[in-house]
Amino acid sequence: MALKESLQKFAVETSLYCPFQRVINKLSPEDKATLSQALLEGYPNITIAKALRDEGHRIAEISIMEHRKGLCRCPKTQNSKKS
Ligand SMILES: [Zn+2]
Repeated sequence: MALKESLQKFAVETSLYCPFQRVINKLSPEDKATLSQALLEGYPNITIAKALRDEGHRIAEISIMEHRKGLCRCPKTQNSKKS
């Protein structure tokens, strides 16, 4: 990929998603499944942060906390409404 394309790709990604979502985007399908299961089961943010850092990802516990609480800058999906 040409540098110009890479720059544009990462500029868009960085402005759209929070650090935690950017880590998620890089995970393999298997790791994504494992992570979403861990989130569902209520694993503490610090545990998830440590596990991801152990896998070589740069992630802070606070980024995970903000993402889980919906306080991050990720685009919010509209399909979470329940009637
Ligand atoms: Zn997020």
